[in-house]
Amino acid sequence: MTRPYIGRLAPSPTGLLHLGHAATFWAAHQRAKADNGTLLLRIEDLDTQRSKSHFAEAILEDLQWLGITWQPPALHQSQRLPLYREALDQLLISGHIYPCHCSRKDLAGMMHAPHEDTDDEPVYPGICRPALDVPQNKIPFQPNINYRFRVPDSEIITFEDKNLGLQSYKAGTDFGDFLVWRKDGLPSYQLACVVDDAATQITEVVRGRDLLKSTARQLLLQLALNISTPDYFHTHLLTDERGIRLAKRHDALAIRTLRQQGLMPAEVLQMADLHMTTVTSDS
Ligand code: GLU
Repeated sequence: MTRPYIGRLAPSPTGLLHLGHAATFWAAHQRAKADNGTLLLRIEDLDTQRSKSHFAEAILEDLQWLGITWQPPALHQSQRLPLYREALDQLLISGHIYPCHCSRKDLAGMMHAPHEDTDDEPVYPGICRPALDVPQNKIPFQPNINYRFRVPDSEIITFEDKNLGLQSYKAGTDFGDFLVWRKDGLPSYQLACVVDDAATQITEVVRGRDLLKSTARQLLLQLALNISTPDYFHTHLLTDERGIRLAKRHDALAIRTLRQQGLMPAEVLQMADLHMTTVTSDS
């Protein structure tokens, strides 16, 4: 028997909702509705520097205005740290991760989802990666240290995306040993995301195609943590008439601004639809 559909909206409260988010969240809403399923809301507020409660409030309000509904209560990642720590311990015991002493500069951009327009997480050059014959599971957790996941070099990670079809990435080349824990005591986006998707029994993740490579990383984490893998449906990104990603433009495309200009929800959603690119490859 197939499990009832559970989807999620996972906004980061680091800015206002724009047309691109609206398109993705609308797709999530529609897919949950079509399956008579449930949609949950998770506020990804682990980036303590950039997350602001007034953005979270504005996002919720804009979602409601658009007619996107979810099942309360909303989860806040900042309140779920013990759960992530438990997963970290599990990875430590199973020897999947190792402590990394590389500088802050090397680690820039690890807290938020590594979207393509933030240049993604660079392939880690392996400076702190221990030799394979050094048992890692005997080393107890050390606070104030970053931890990385050792990816299986050259392994091809494939998955069938429900929207974009077969995807494949080479571990160690397309992405490297990625951060799972930061020395400031917080999990990375990758770890928190898989822990929460599993804890809330998400059956399908709907998100932008800029996170395709993160999905490959998350599949490895799910395997290591022995948790189930949901289906994935990555949406196309919105572009303007010149093919430039809307996320890179900040002028007049916040839902808030469009509302203030007097547009109705259906008009905003139609605008989002018109901007949806038909490009299907990452090139
Ligand atoms: N919070 C992420 C973002 O801002 C979304 C991550 C996800 O859907 O897995 O895009």
